[in-house]
Formats: sequence, structure tokens, C-alpha cells
Amino acid sequence: MNLSERDKLYNWHPYTQHKTANDFPAIVKGEGALLWDENGKEYIDAIASWWVNPYGHSNKVIADAIYAQLTTLEHVLFGGFTHDKAVLLAEKLMTILPNNQKKLFYSDNGSTAVEVALKCALQYFYNKGVTKTKIIAFEDAFHGDTFGAMASSGITFFTEAFKGSLLEVVRIPVPTKGNEDACLQALSDLVVTNDFAAFIFEPLVQGAAGMVMYEAAVLDQMIALCNQNKVFTIADEVMTGFGKTGKTFATDYLGNKPDMMCLSKALTGGTIPMAITTFTEEIFDGFYDDDTNKALFHGHTFTANPTGCAAALASISLLQSEVMQNNIAQVNQSHLNFEERIKAHPKVKTTRVLGVIFALEIKTESQESYYGTMRNKLYNFFIENGVILRPVGNIVYILPPYIITPSQLEKVYDTIEKALEIV
Ligand SMILES: *Cc1c(COP(=O)(O)O)cnc(C)c1O
Repeated sequence: MNLSERDKLYNWHPYTQHKTANDFPAIVKGEGALLWDENGKEYIDAIASWWVNPYGHSNKVIADAIYAQLTTLEHVLFGGFTHDKAVLLAEKLMTILPNNQKKLFYSDNGSTAVEVALKCALQYFYNKGVTKTKIIAFEDAFHGDTFGAMASSGITFFTEAFKGSLLEVVRIPVPTKGNEDACLQALSDLVVTNDFAAFIFEPLVQGAAGMVMYEAAVLDQMIALCNQNKVFTIADEVMTGFGKTGKTFATDYLGNKPDMMCLSKALTGGTIPMAITTFTEEIFDGFYDDDTNKALFHGHTFTANPTGCAAALASISLLQSEVMQNNIAQVNQSHLNFEERIKAHPKVKTTRVLGVIFALEIKTESQESYYGTMRNKLYNFFIENGVILRPVGNIVYILPPYIITPSQLEKVYDTIEKALEIV
């Protein structure tokens, strides 16, 4: 049996109906934007392995930093101790985060970063004896798969089975072009009720919904509404963080900064699972008290893992290099050129570009479901042609490693153009 076949004996994969799934290619090597399977077939990783890998697979700078850390201090508990890499990473992040962000809490993945933010919003008010127990979130949001994160997510087939066991979340429309006023109205109706502890959102781009985009100006107005009514704002930058939108953070496009931010995915360049939730001084102060019970009783065994922190430090230095900033600008320019070339195609309904993110919506007769027939047909076509893209219903998006070469990117575009002929 090969690896693909042996895998099926024991491994349960994410978001997979194993009864109808094909065999999964077994990847044995990665370099730059390329991956190879056990049969030697080459793939272009056009989605940076679920948006985690901006600097390329098996990146030597990050690998060296990890190796040096592993042979110096692989891990120490963060309860009652600290270490040099957690201090250095905090200092580094303070130089790139919006300047109202003053404190960091480490955890393991995007979902836990969101859980921490939600718990802090709720406990902040509890500590003050104020009853605010509900959360505001966007329709079609995605914030992760743990319970709080799932409650905030609006993609219903992910969460349907757990309705009734979830935190109370009220949803508002996404302020895409033409929907700004409806969204602002819905938000202002909610914030005045005093029931809400926080508003959580994916700033400017809703990734899992299919790279749905909206403008910074309307988000600025929304944050202002929340500020006026003492509702905390949580920017879930798990996908958008570290250069994806063309700036370090999507919130860098905003005039009004959020109270909390959630970071993960590209934080360690796609190497070690790690996440960070960041806070204003005001939120930290809501827990700072002589009363032990007012502390945040939350933690994960691997909190602030030194190896993860070392990987993050190396990743941020790569992001800040001139070469990487040029790569981001080049990918953006290529996307804009491709958009010009493809937008008049009879099968293309809409296109959108922000930073290294490109998305194209295919015209369909009916509403395409998330994992529907068209999606599967497209997905299989891309894999057969050696390009890793995971369409969302009828939306095909590209979010490549920043170091993808022009010819690799050209092959991704060509493959998408060919795919338009088979749907
Ligand atoms: C992926 C993602 C998450 C969840 O992160 P995990 O590491 O998968 O738990 C949360 N929010 C956003 C915006 C994401 O894209």
C-alpha cells in the first residue's frame, strides 16, 4: 500500500465526508510555492496551505531559527515563568501593531485566539458587575471551530448541529458595496441596547465566505458606533494578518483601531501552531485587581512555546525585508493584470483583488453550495492540473505564498482560465 492508502486506515481529515472523498495525495516534500506527492507529481500551492505560508515551504531562515531554539530551550511553562523569545516577540509586535494595542496573550491556533478575545470581552463586564452577555458578528463570518468561535461564525452548515449549545450571537449584514447603510443601521440598533459585550469581525476580507470584501470607511464607522456605546471591537486578523491585504494588518487601513486583535496562521510562517490575542491597556486593566478572582483564568499547556516564538520572530523579519515587500507588491500587480484580462469573460460574474488576494465569482444558474457539484468539479480539475486551489461554491480564489514566481503564478491564472471552460 502507498501512503494515500495507508492514510485511509486511521486518519480522520478535517471538513471531510470520508464516504464520498477521493484518495488524498500524500505530500512528501515542499519548497517555495511547490509541493510534491509520493508519486513525484508537482503542485503549486496557490492558497499557501490554508493561508499560513507566505514565505515558502521549508523556508531555511525559519527552519534555522527553529533548530537553534530547539537546541537551546524547546519549551518552558509560561505559568510562573517567562523566556527571552516571548519577550522579544512581544517587543517586536509592539512595533508593528496599531499603537493602541498594549498587551498580548499567547495560545495555539486561530480558534483559541478568538475564544480568548470573546472571554475577555465577557469577563471584563462581569468583573465590573455589568450585564453584557451577547456578541455581534457578521453573516457568513468564520472565526474558527471551537464553541465560542463557532457561535460567532455564520456559515450555518458548519454550526447547525450545535445550535442551542452556543453563546448568544446576533448577526448583522456584511457591508459589501450597496449594503453599507443596512449594515450600519442594524449595528446601531443593536449597540444601543446595552446587551452586547463585543462585535467581532474579519476586517476587510471574509476569508472562508469566499474572500468577500468590503471597504475600510464603513468599518471605521462601525468601530466608532461600538466605541460610543461601550461595545468592544475584535478584529479577527487570523487570515488577513502579516501582509495578506498589502499592509501588515488589515486594520492598518483603518482610522479607528479595534480593542482586540486575533493573530495566527502566517504568524509563524506556516511552521509551528501558535496564536496571539492582543489588547488595549483598558481591557487588561479590567482584570488588574487585588482580587484574584478577577484574573483571566485561561491558559493552554503550550502557551508562548519558545520554538513557536522563535519561528514568529524569524517570520516577521522576513515579512519586513525589502525583498518580501516587493514580492507582495508584485503579486498584487499580477492579480490586477489578471483581473483586467478575465473580468469580461462571459462566465465571470465578479472579480476582486486586495493585496495578494484574488477572487473570481463564476456565473451560475442556481445558488452553489459550499461543497457542491461545481466546487468539486473545479477542485478536482485544479488538482489534476497540479494547482492547489479550494473554491468556495462558485468562488475561486488565489492567496499564494508571497514568494511564488511569476511563471508559477501565470500557470495558476492559465489553469483558472481553462477551468472556466469546463463549468
Ligand atoms: C482560519 C481562521 C480561524 C481559525 O483558525 P484555526 O487555526 O483554524 O483554529 C479564525 N478566524 C479566521 C478569520 C480564520 O481564517
